[in-house]
Amino acid sequence: MFDTLSDRLNGIFTKLRGKGRLTDADIDATAREIRLALLEADVALPVVRGFIARIKERARGSEVSQALNPAQQVIKIVHEELVNVLGGDTRRLQLAKQPPSVIMLAGLQGSGKTTLAGKLARFLAGQGHQPLLVAADLQRPNAVTQLQVLGERAGVEVFAPEPGNGVGDPVDVARASIEHAKRVARDIVIVDTAGRLGIDAEMMAQAANIRDAVDPDEVLFVIDAMVGQDAVNTAEAFRDGVGITGVVLSKLDGDARGGAALSVREVTGQPILFASTGEKLEDFDIFHPDRMASRILGMGDVLTLIEQAEQAFDADQKEKMTAKLMGGEQFTLEDFLDQMVAMRRMGPIANVLAMMPGMGQVKDQLADLDDKHFDRVTAIIRSMTPNERVNPKIINGSRRARIANGSGVTVMDVNQLLNRFVEAQKMMKQMGGMMGLPGSRRKAT
Ligand code: GDP
Repeated sequence: MFDTLSDRLNGIFTKLRGKGRLTDADIDATAREIRLALLEADVALPVVRGFIARIKERARGSEVSQALNPAQQVIKIVHEELVNVLGGDTRRLQLAKQPPSVIMLAGLQGSGKTTLAGKLARFLAGQGHQPLLVAADLQRPNAVTQLQVLGERAGVEVFAPEPGNGVGDPVDVARASIEHAKRVARDIVIVDTAGRLGIDAEMMAQAANIRDAVDPDEVLFVIDAMVGQDAVNTAEAFRDGVGITGVVLSKLDGDARGGAALSVREVTGQPILFASTGEKLEDFDIFHPDRMASRILGMGDVLTLIEQAEQAFDADQKEKMTAKLMGGEQFTLEDFLDQMVAMRRMGPIANVLAMMPGMGQVKDQLADLDDKHFDRVTAIIRSMTPNERVNPKIINGSRRARIANGSGVTVMDVNQLLNRFVEAQKMMKQMGGMMGLPGSRRKAT
């Protein structure tokens, strides 16, 4: 996510290291390079201008801290300005005092809107809500079925037009869904609306009619982050035509440059509420401007990592793991297996690793740690006996062959795993250290 921008900014900061004092010329040169990095990331020009002006003013101004060296000061200022440009405080969903609350989703076709509806439903259900998904996208042939599949996966009811009655009118469906929600006591209604490939008058009118029919508490515009600042212009048009109360960034797992994320708040004046980071229902997070800024600056996103870990590991496992980490006890392959399974629950391993501080720099070396690799490792450990998992030293040559056979890999793979296990033990220890001290890196900035 935003790798090029992160690399560029880190390169700029590296040049400042070791400088005892920053001259005006240093500040100008740094500001010019940051400007270029932002423009290359496809950030909207007015946003870049404001950003750079503030950086220069603050770097030259009186913010001279004894505790920080010049490079750290610039990083601190850039971090804070990134947080501002991303929206400042985390903006939560605003729900109605009187249920049901209504969340209307809008966006261009392919932006990830329907997927997002499923993710939001799963997320809200996980928080104890009783959501209802509404299929008011009757334009795209598969949209209703797609939503039904997602609803089933999320364990959330889907309200859709009766099959056989023609395609139906999306405004009628939306209106009827609110009545249905009241009848069956659903407290949040999520309305998926139709998108087009481009903004057109008919689409705007339909969205406005649905809005009038359901009186939404939130109208969230889903933006494909891969499209960049063009997508932001669409959001602006939609804000003016229908009115939006917030934005969701989708496809942040791809190689988006950052333009949409960094421009949308300032251009539309509307906050980013959520981030969508993959095709699966769990690839979804609340958008925290400060954490995102830290990730862009390569400081990692330990807080999100911890939250995801908390969801993925059950209470027993957590207690066991903490006890082991704190007591400095040896990890066995059994623990390793538990953690693999839990880590896989946290989403694609590349996403998980990207949140760790410093991982940005070593991600190339970790490229072979893909999801298939994890699944293979899991299979190998599952082919071992409980005794072997606790004491892998007892695994001799013939057992290695049997294990390889049992898990469909080569003996070399088994050997490699056993060797790597020692390295993994070290990594888990490090991770434990990080989790115990989530604030420590922040102070260092
Ligand atoms: P809609 O037309 O706006 O409803 O878009 P869909 O929800 O159907 O999504 C379009 C495509 O993008 C589908 O293939 C989704 O699986 C995919 N998609 C949606 N969200 C994400 C995401 O966050 N990351 C990735 N990589 N793909 C996504």
